[in-house]
Amino acid sequence: MLRFLDVESMRPDKRDSGVRVADFREIYDDFRHQRASEQAARCSQCGVPFCQVHCPLQNNIPDWLMLTAAGRMEEAYALASATNNMPEVCGRICPQDRLCEGNCVIEKGFGAVTIGSVENYITETAFANGWVRPPAPPFERGQSVGVIGAGPGGMAAAEELRRKGYRVEVYDRYDRTGGLLIYGIPNFKLEKDVVERRTRLLEDGGIVFHRNVEVGSDIAFAEVRAAHDAVLIATGVYAAREIAVPGVGLGNIVPAMTYLTASNRKGLGDAVPAFESGALDAAGKRVVVIGGGDTAMDCVRTAVRQGAVSVKCLYRRDRENMPGSMREVRHAEEEGVEFVWLAAPEAFVGDSEVRGVRAVRMRLGAPDAAGRSAPEPVEGSSHVVDADLAVLALGFDPEDFLAMFGEPELGLTRWGTIVADFQSLATRCEGVFAAGDVVRGASLVVWAIRDARVASASIHAYLQDQSAQTAPPSPRRRKARPIVIEENEDA
Ligand SMILES: Cc1cc2nc3c(=O)[nH]c(=O)nc-3n(C[C@H](O)[C@H](O)[C@H](O)COP(=O)(O)OP(=O)(O)OC[C@H]3O[C@@H](n4cnc5c(N)ncnc54)[C@H](O)[C@@H]3O)c2cc1C
Ligand code: SF4
Repeated sequence: MLRFLDVESMRPDKRDSGVRVADFREIYDDFRHQRASEQAARCSQCGVPFCQVHCPLQNNIPDWLMLTAAGRMEEAYALASATNNMPEVCGRICPQDRLCEGNCVIEKGFGAVTIGSVENYITETAFANGWVRPPAPPFERGQSVGVIGAGPGGMAAAEELRRKGYRVEVYDRYDRTGGLLIYGIPNFKLEKDVVERRTRLLEDGGIVFHRNVEVGSDIAFAEVRAAHDAVLIATGVYAAREIAVPGVGLGNIVPAMTYLTASNRKGLGDAVPAFESGALDAAGKRVVVIGGGDTAMDCVRTAVRQGAVSVKCLYRRDRENMPGSMREVRHAEEEGVEFVWLAAPEAFVGDSEVRGVRAVRMRLGAPDAAGRSAPEPVEGSSHVVDADLAVLALGFDPEDFLAMFGEPELGLTRWGTIVADFQSLATRCEGVFAAGDVVRGASLVVWAIRDARVASASIHAYLQDQSAQTAPPSPRRRKARPIVIEENEDA
């Protein structure tokens, strides 16, 4: 260990930008063992490991780095998977520069240990050697949990609960499992077979997935509650933020998720009429993406790969104040994306279809209540940025959960997320818990997994409590009955 003095910080080889924009494959090659163990050996084994403190899962990073450096890979995997249900996903897409690696003690001066890449290497090695196994409960408890939402939050909770011996059924309105891992995040960050491999493991462990089932329309929330002893809501946030400027109703102005979902579906081999017609295909177009978060970065880099003539990203603050990961910005710049900092849209121009975005230059004024500089328009700075396709990546708000679930007792925060106790993630409804974006607002995969683990532990405690009661079963338990869902032929 402590090799940071003589070994340079390195990630796995990154494919050349000119090559990688020709396909949607992940941009990093796999670590070779030699490099992974050398990089792991750079760790300084701090007494207080700030990397671990700043990992939402409190992963035992120094120890699994030490085991990797020693070539003890099976033990490294046992440790990495003890705190994380999807280390291969987090290793690929966590914004490590803001989490573990950004807080690595040797980062200043020597360059951080490339923690995410090693975490990914450990898990890929484990998969290659057959060490990753489906959840296998020691015994069946006879109680069941319904999970609504099959994103990373729902998947991680399903695994945790199945390992404890509960019967777990997951309901999702999509036709595939993975939530935003499948239909939001593009392949060049996370290839879909990585997600599908996890899904297969969960199915092999006995978890039942009901796909194409929207709770609130295909079946009622009350039915799910009645069918299970406890319920977890992990439905994410999907209401795209809108922009109220003239011309926003013109053709070829699309929300980011519509654009990304079409591209991801295409990559998965689905027929996507709106893509095939050209409406959601950037090929040959001048594309303008509005926004500065990770979703905007995914849109610009997708447009480049689809063969756009030019791709511009308009953001109203500057580079230092953008919410997206700096690493993603660098990737986008390498791939030919032009960032137009300090520019905000005033209007969309065109006849029936968009032909340009009229933008105004901004300057950063006094910091707002949250400490961020508030952007202010510069008078007389309007200009038109040509566009044949404009993608709105302005963030996501919660849907109307009270209307969706028809359960006013759930309660909403002032941001529209579901009210849940911070410690247990229990909602106000007996036996109902919530995890991930539905509680936090749009966040990160690693936080959804963390919530899922907390909520699963709370559900376990709640159900043990229920079964410990020797009195006759409560009215809620008595009315539990199975749901019969007619299988959709497309599922
Ligand atoms: C484009 C994009 C890029 C991102 N990039 C990153 C990244 O690089 N790194 C990172 O850490 N995070 C990233 N994120 C954020 C991350 O994807 C989310 O924080 C995470 O997926 C949240 O997990 P979740 O399980 O709470 O919700 P989701 O992943 O949204 O899953 C919710 C699931 O619930 C289902 N559902 C919703 N309502 C119902 C209903 N009524 N009935 C049945 N099913 C329902 C949905 O179909 C979905 O499958 C990105 C997000 C987006 C949009
Ligand atoms: S889960 Fe994310 S934050 Fe934690 S060690 Fe892995 S990459 Fe870093």
